[in-house]
Amino acid sequence: MPTLRRYTVLPRLPAPLERLRDIAHNLWWAWSPVAVSLFVRVDPDLYDEVFGNPIELLSRASQRRLDELSTDDAFLSHLEMAWSTFQAYMSREGWFKKTYPDAQNARIAYFSMEYGLHQCLPIYSGGLGVLAGDHLKTASDLGIPLVGVGLAYAEGYFRQVLNDDGWQGERYPINDWPRLPVQPVRTADGKRLMIRVAYPDRNVLAQLWKVQVGRVPLFLLDTNVEENAKADRAITGPLYGGDQEFRVRQEIMLGIGGVHALEAMGMTPTACHMNEGHSAFLALERIGRLMRERGASFAVAGEANSAASIFTTHTPVPAGNDVFQADLVRRYLEPYRAALGISEEQLLGLGRVDPRDTKSAFSMPVLAIRSADHYNGVSALHGEVSRKMYQTLWPELPEHEVPIGSVTNGVHIASWISSEHGALYTRYLGPRWADEVDDAALWARAQNIPDAELWQTHEHRRHRLVQLCRHWRRLAAERRQLAPEEVERAEQVLDPRALTIGFARRFATYKRATLLFSDMARVKRLLCDPDRPVQLVFAGKAHPQDKGGKELIRSIVHASRDPELQRRVVFIEDYDMRIARAMVSGVDVWLNTPRRPHEASGTSGMKAAANGALNVSVLDGWWAEAWKSHGSEVGWAIGRGEEYEDGLGDALEAEVLYDLLEREVVPLFFDRTPHDQLPRGWIKRMKNAISKLVPEFNTARMVREYTETFYVPAITLSEKLRADNLAEAERLTRWKEKVRQAWPHVAIHSVALRSKEQLYVGEAMDVEAVVDLGALASDDVVVELYHGPAAAGQDLPHGEVIPMSLASRSPEGRHIYHGAIPARDSGSHAFAVRIMPHNTALTHPYETSLVRWG
Ligand SMILES: *Cc1c(COP(=O)(O)O)cnc(C)c1O
Repeated sequence: MPTLRRYTVLPRLPAPLERLRDIAHNLWWAWSPVAVSLFVRVDPDLYDEVFGNPIELLSRASQRRLDELSTDDAFLSHLEMAWSTFQAYMSREGWFKKTYPDAQNARIAYFSMEYGLHQCLPIYSGGLGVLAGDHLKTASDLGIPLVGVGLAYAEGYFRQVLNDDGWQGERYPINDWPRLPVQPVRTADGKRLMIRVAYPDRNVLAQLWKVQVGRVPLFLLDTNVEENAKADRAITGPLYGGDQEFRVRQEIMLGIGGVHALEAMGMTPTACHMNEGHSAFLALERIGRLMRERGASFAVAGEANSAASIFTTHTPVPAGNDVFQADLVRRYLEPYRAALGISEEQLLGLGRVDPRDTKSAFSMPVLAIRSADHYNGVSALHGEVSRKMYQTLWPELPEHEVPIGSVTNGVHIASWISSEHGALYTRYLGPRWADEVDDAALWARAQNIPDAELWQTHEHRRHRLVQLCRHWRRLAAERRQLAPEEVERAEQVLDPRALTIGFARRFATYKRATLLFSDMARVKRLLCDPDRPVQLVFAGKAHPQDKGGKELIRSIVHASRDPELQRRVVFIEDYDMRIARAMVSGVDVWLNTPRRPHEASGTSGMKAAANGALNVSVLDGWWAEAWKSHGSEVGWAIGRGEEYEDGLGDALEAEVLYDLLEREVVPLFFDRTPHDQLPRGWIKRMKNAISKLVPEFNTARMVREYTETFYVPAITLSEKLRADNLAEAERLTRWKEKVRQAWPHVAIHSVALRSKEQLYVGEAMDVEAVVDLGALASDDVVVELYHGPAAAGQDLPHGEVIPMSLASRSPEGRHIYHGAIPARDSGSHAFAVRIMPHNTALTHPYETSLVRWG
């Protein structure tokens, strides 16, 4: 054999098709069926093979095919339609501009370790990334001046391959960045823009890639450049790989490198949103810059930075958080510490729950909280869990007053419904559904969709899911080089008419994927009833190090080989956004069985609901909220929100789940009206799910909420603090310093009842408090009555607050305050008096974390 030298020949895109490339470079196509169908049309098989990556598609399509399309007037008119839809989208004004005309120069930088935008850009591992992707898409829809920042991983998140025993193996695809729908960022003279980030004893360089997401750019940092040493080139290697030291390196690149990158492009952020704590080092860089540029102190620059910083936590269990050994942080942040002019202990204290506890490790979420003034969890329940988790940072406050609120997650509806559902909604809700996703009146029109038509669309998608599962099973069998009869058998799974239950998510053990298999005899009875067949479709990846999660996958694969179950249970390999979309739009029931309260929010159930699937779920995360508002109209709850010590509730909740399926879900699905075979009761719930859940659990509502409660206040506050060369930040810092020094002398001298101890409803309890303010003036504080019904014991867990007013000064110079608590209900009540620092420049009243109780 001669030695073969390989080379590549790229096709030339004929002139009439030039716009295909322009569309391909803006991820707008990812949620626009008119564009996706256009690319599919170029070459359907190739489209699948390249995971829908249009750049790859255009560079691998045959020249003959492209030439053919360039004279195909049907294709060209399709292209024209996609182009004009695209242009209209890009040029519209958007909600933000209309609502906040004064904030046009603002720029919100959104930092996330992962982004799930499309299956062809594998820089996401699960829910956190998909949420970040949906956030960017929605910011584009609403015209919010937001830019994303992330890492350009050389290895995509792993692809899952199961061996014959069902044990998960991992394959790491190499991301060939020039072939992805992204563009290199260049300087004015056409060179690659490089940024330089300080690491111990060296600088690490990074180049940038831009992903255009509609009107929002996402910048990804890439250290895989020749100038870097080998280990540094690997910093943006794998997503969530490596040891602690590797993670520190990565997170420095994300947070600190991210700020460098924006500055290098002249895009100084007005506000920064940290999606999880991974990017929290960014505060050090932002503060350092303010100090250099404005000659400010660490404290003053810190005030200006935190007023403009937002932190969203997603982790309801302490063990899930990013925590580093102090030594590692000390070593890696040394170049920054010196510039900030703070001591090592001060630096490490920023990431410690108790800064004085020099033995404790460095927590990224704690750093994020310390360097932001706005914080939230991602569902109402997760807000509660977060307040409990971080109460130690506000030790003087009752738990419910800990200033961590919640913004419930959502999904970008247009990205997650099938094109058939999209067409159905356009027909019956009108074309505005994609823009006014949070308009409840509009979604109420889903009730007008004729039963037969909704059911037909749904059945069509179920058939499609069954076909796809068979296709994917065939590919997996061929890849494993099984015998032809086995390949054929792999394809003979599922029944297009059976009640189809879907379960797909990361295989973390707390999600309990195998709950349904706790009683094999019972699950067989449930699935194999010839008159009322039920089937299960599973998908999901376990973290490569998570043996427990891999065991769960294996046991499902084993169950799917049981002779009685083999047509009724499938596990689809290599869960990604493409499989997710097919599943959420094709199943009847979406099953969710986390151990409460471990699921911070969960979003896949929202995707299912948007396609009319019914959720059967533990009351955790978002579903606890949906259930509270709508109850059984929209789906089913497993249990009533009980919480158990890990694992102890599993057997019981499995029982409850079986009962629910046997007694309610399956009978309702098979209850058909005789003349047309429609399950009217089921369809009624589908319509409820669509009309009631979609307008609430979508990212337009979510991003508007972030904008109103965080972005706009952060922009306003930080402008105020920065004005006049940080004059206001300087004042605030001095004031906080004064308050801290004076605080030990602030005391409640006496509290007296000015009413009788027994009142009637309708009267009020008048209270007088005499307080010592030491060096503080009455303007520096608020004196409050914290009151509520007194349950047994000493606590007032959910007290309400009434401000007291200054009545007079005592001869000794003490301040006398009066306040009245209305007696609205009979029973035993209690109150306490407290003093808190007060200043209008504070973002929230608990910012100083100082409270003096009487
Ligand atoms: C939506 C989605 C998730 C998140 O699902 P949860 O229900 O929140 O666990 C994870 N992975 C992919 C691919 C998704 O599309």
